[in-house]
Amino acid sequence: MGQLQDVGEADGWRCWLCDEPVDRTMPPNDPRAPSLDTRISKGRAKKKKQDKGSLPTERLAHKGCNTGKGANDPVVPWPDHLIVVDPAPLIAAAERLERKGGREAMARCPTRSDADAVAAWLVGRFSRLSPELQVHTEIANTGGQFLVSLHTS
Ligand SMILES: [Zn+2]
Repeated sequence: MGQLQDVGEADGWRCWLCDEPVDRTMPPNDPRAPSLDTRISKGRAKKKKQDKGSLPTERLAHKGCNTGKGANDPVVPWPDHLIVVDPAPLIAAAERLERKGGREAMARCPTRSDADAVAAWLVGRFSRLSPELQVHTEIANTGGQFLVSLHTS
């Protein structure tokens, strides 16, 4: 339980996959119970070797969201309230940014205000998804649509 407590504190008792709060008092076989999910990422593994122990590879997840210790690719959902076309898979984008930095196109939006909402959401979401990544967003008007991309600083 000690490690779960530590990872839970580090992740603010929020599931790293669905971004919803985790109630640590749930009975252990409830799907909403806290569990440890192992984040397997080449970029993260490499980084961990360099600065030993500063980056946890265990993340807090609901038991029902847990990917089963890396057996399946984790799926991080985009929220329903955002209006996006072609949203990019969040985990794959996070892993590429961790590995080599640069820029990832995340979604296209029909209006500027949709794009602003997506940009604001992405920055908050990535701060929990990939806490060691420093990202900022850019919005480009691409002929009637607004492309939101993430850049590493
Ligand atoms: Zn969850």
